Amino acid sequence: IPVEPFDLVVFGGTGDLARRKILPALYRRFLAGQMGETSRVIGAARSVMDAAGYRDFVRAAIDEFDPVSAGDEGALAAFLERLSYVAVDATGDTGWDRLAGEVGSGRIRAFYFSVGPRLFGALAERLHEYGMADSDSRIVVEKPFGRDLASARELNRVLAQHFHEHQIYRIDHYLGKETVQNLMAVRFGNMLFEPLWNSQYVDHIQITVAESVGVGGRGDYYDRAGAMRDMMQNHLMQLLCLIAMEPPAKFDPDAVRDEKLKVIRALDPVAPDNVVRGQYEADGDKPDYRAQVGDPESTTESFVALKAHVSNWRWAGTPFYLRTGKRLKDRASEIAVVFKETPHSIFGEDAGRHRNILTIRLQPNEGIELGVTIKEPGPGGMRLVDVPLDMTFAEALGPDSADFPDAYERLIMDVIRGNQTLFMRGDEVEAAWAWTDPIIEGWEERGDAPKPYDSGSAGPDDALMLMHRDGRRWREIK
Ligand code: NAD
Repeated sequence: IPVEPFDLVVFGGTGDLARRKILPALYRRFLAGQMGETSRVIGAARSVMDAAGYRDFVRAAIDEFDPVSAGDEGALAAFLERLSYVAVDATGDTGWDRLAGEVGSGRIRAFYFSVGPRLFGALAERLHEYGMADSDSRIVVEKPFGRDLASARELNRVLAQHFHEHQIYRIDHYLGKETVQNLMAVRFGNMLFEPLWNSQYVDHIQITVAESVGVGGRGDYYDRAGAMRDMMQNHLMQLLCLIAMEPPAKFDPDAVRDEKLKVIRALDPVAPDNVVRGQYEADGDKPDYRAQVGDPESTTESFVALKAHVSNWRWAGTPFYLRTGKRLKDRASEIAVVFKETPHSIFGEDAGRHRNILTIRLQPNEGIELGVTIKEPGPGGMRLVDVPLDMTFAEALGPDSADFPDAYERLIMDVIRGNQTLFMRGDEVEAAWAWTDPIIEGWEERGDAPKPYDSGSAGPDDALMLMHRDGRRWREIK
């Protein structure tokens, strides 16, 4: 789908996120023909360099993070032609006049705040001061959006001084994943699932976002955040919302976000014994969490698991188990909707009993799978066995269908198109913090320390117990 001409300014255009995600994503959209002839990208950051220097920088980034697309030398050169660079200081006046001159008027202007959140307010302020905050402009803000309710409110307040809510795009890149959107298509595009989508038929729901890597070079930031703030409050919460929400009347931004907000507001407070925090231990020559963040006393969690209840008519009695962590067994993210057993087995208990599980897999191998029970083939009588009804795109829709855009490609183009459906609204973010804050405050007040867990495991034993004591078990991380 063609988009209108735009100027996109990437603040933090020399940073890690710009290099790894934003710039390669823009190049792929250019290759897909979505950057009309006059659209431009302007890098803006603290380092002093000229346009040629920035083009070299971007070329190196694309070479490193998307070597296949980078192979098209002619296209890459044409893309680089669209780039320029302005050295700006977010908190001072350097570079702003020049930037204002570079950004065209009468066209879509998007400003991507890929800088630390402490600079969001200053950037918004200066965009206004230098005449770039008008009704055609929009801003994209990265995570983290605050570290608690008070700071998120303050951030919303500061941004609202210069931009309307419909101009503010709060990124949660999980929402840009193809499968996450497909989850909505499966739920609301089929008659099959929605009638069963409630506590009468769903036993429980599990959401796992497991990483196999540790905190790596982000130790400083991570140690001040922890898994609850870094992952649970935003990404897992957003996934929970999409699973639990009522059908919106339309697939439009406010209709969808109103329904998500209702889910967050329906969440019960989480009792202390329904949350488990963990911290990973050393693994061979890989240091433990504390050594990695350089604080032997750190009580920040690198893992959190919890049981949540959405207290409304649809979900009363169906628990949502959520877990996320680093240095776990594998890199695997999925949502599993585990249906109840049939009320009675006509085949007798010996035939075996199975549950239907709908699995929405976010990584690796994005796809959706429904486990159904059939008869085991052969003469051995009526024995039941589970088989997957696989909705992996590549198989059903041809190999090209698996070649879908990366979340950032999708989301950046949504910003240009002015579609906020896959972005978090300010009140949603605040409601999510309002739910998370008491959990974190409880840890702090009680002085709870995270439980150590082995690297390469599924987290601390207490997390396993969280489900075992309910007669349930986590799905294997693989
Ligand atoms: P980074 O430290 O690598 O880059 C920061 C960028 O900001 C640099 O381009 C720097 O020049 C610029 N900058 C810093 N101070 C400035 C100032 N006063 N004026 C103008 N420019 C200034 O950071 P990053 O890892 O790219 O992260 C950027 C944002 O994206 C952060 O909010 C981060 O939380 C978020 N984020 C990053 C990742 C990631 O994987 N790196 C993932 C999700 C979200």
